[in-house]
Amino acid sequence: MFDKILIANRGEIALRVIRACREMGIASVAVHSTADSDAMHVRMADETICIGPPPSADSYLSIPAIISACEVTGAQAIHPGYGFLSENARFVQVIEDHGLTFIGPSAEHIRIMGDKITAKETAKALGIPVVPGSAGGVASVEDAKKIGADFGYPVIIKATAGGGGRGMKVAASEAEMERAYQTARAEAKAAFGNDEVYIEKYLQKPRHIEVQVFGDGKGNGVHLGERDCSLQRRHQKVFEEAPGPCITPEERARIGGICAKAIAEMGYRGAGTIEFLYEDGEFYFIEMNTRLQVEHPVTESIFGVDLVREQIRVAEGYPLSFTQDDLVINGHSIEVRINAEKLPTFSPCPGKITQYHAPGGLGVRMDSALYDGYKIPPYYDSLIGKLIVHGRDRQEALARLNRALGELIVDGVDTTVPLFHALLQEPDIHSGDYNIHWLEKWLAKSL
Ligand code: ADP
Repeated sequence: MFDKILIANRGEIALRVIRACREMGIASVAVHSTADSDAMHVRMADETICIGPPPSADSYLSIPAIISACEVTGAQAIHPGYGFLSENARFVQVIEDHGLTFIGPSAEHIRIMGDKITAKETAKALGIPVVPGSAGGVASVEDAKKIGADFGYPVIIKATAGGGGRGMKVAASEAEMERAYQTARAEAKAAFGNDEVYIEKYLQKPRHIEVQVFGDGKGNGVHLGERDCSLQRRHQKVFEEAPGPCITPEERARIGGICAKAIAEMGYRGAGTIEFLYEDGEFYFIEMNTRLQVEHPVTESIFGVDLVREQIRVAEGYPLSFTQDDLVINGHSIEVRINAEKLPTFSPCPGKITQYHAPGGLGVRMDSALYDGYKIPPYYDSLIGKLIVHGRDRQEALARLNRALGELIVDGVDTTVPLFHALLQEPDIHSGDYNIHWLEKWLAKSL
């Protein structure tokens, strides 16, 4: 149905979408800022169009520029990737008002899940277990203290409009509440222009487990198991795997079933991720992302499906190409995020790539927009590649990760590769015995 798709993104995810389009016989249009004229997504797409100057606000986030690019090139649909406009309900509305198709869920579902309080209420109503916490926004320090006393400390204060780990503060006791509450509000205001916050019980040793879901928008939904993304720095994921090393088939079927049913009941369309904290055998919903995730390849590896192709098909109005029974896990997959960052501070390290060599061989996938001589611009995210490995079991996947990291060459800028070499020396990584705080503690003593 679609002849041409415009990709409103850059970097490795733009390449990912171009690849799916090409395999489906669909022409691709890359948009780019003036800083990205030489970028790989621009080189690889069938057509390209410059949409503005380097700052994202004037290019990758400019709705009028992207809609114009669609009209000029005759693209019928827009794939948003992740980040940028991928969870912007207004963008979806404008696309639809122009008679174009957004490859993703409805504006309404994006809006509901984009507001974390509404998202939590919706999840609860759909039978999804949530983290205990305030019923809605918390408007004053006095109320915050009351909630702290009710639920017991520690608690976490979170921005309703939050994302990317910003606007979150922990209060370990009532004495810390005032400061944590005010800081969270100020951060939320600065980052999202909305200072509403809510409060949750702070779980002490949870794992981050997220369920991949897919809906056809017509009342059918499936789940594609879970990913464990517990290795985090500043609430940002750095190492992800599927299946979760501590999740049993029974637990997967139970939580997956709840999620798939919720998606079906919502009439949700496309890919989504329902994120949970998991502690002592219980799942607690924290949020839902209404887009493709950075770490989607680990799910693709173990199920042998192409999630981007599926997104495009569903947006075209086709039914899901798999049933729940078709989805059988094969082996284990791990992804590491390679950022252009200087250790130990993780400060961004843009610059020129003097040599790039991607690893290969059985069970190795490198999703990256790097090439020899590429200049990483300083304006965007520091993610420069994702190394994804697949093995028959977790042990084989770890051995393959070690082997592939050894083959990878990225010269000219500092990267997070040494972090992964060091992590692979750790017994806890091999046993899978870690929670969301493990990496921060390890970094504090190791780097
Ligand atoms: P964001 O949208 O900013 O990523 P999330 O709600 O998804 O925020 O939370 C991100 C991370 O913050 C989680 O993966 C977890 O590490 C931590 N976190 C969030 N809520 C809690 C909580 N109630 N208890 C403990 N840690 C939490």
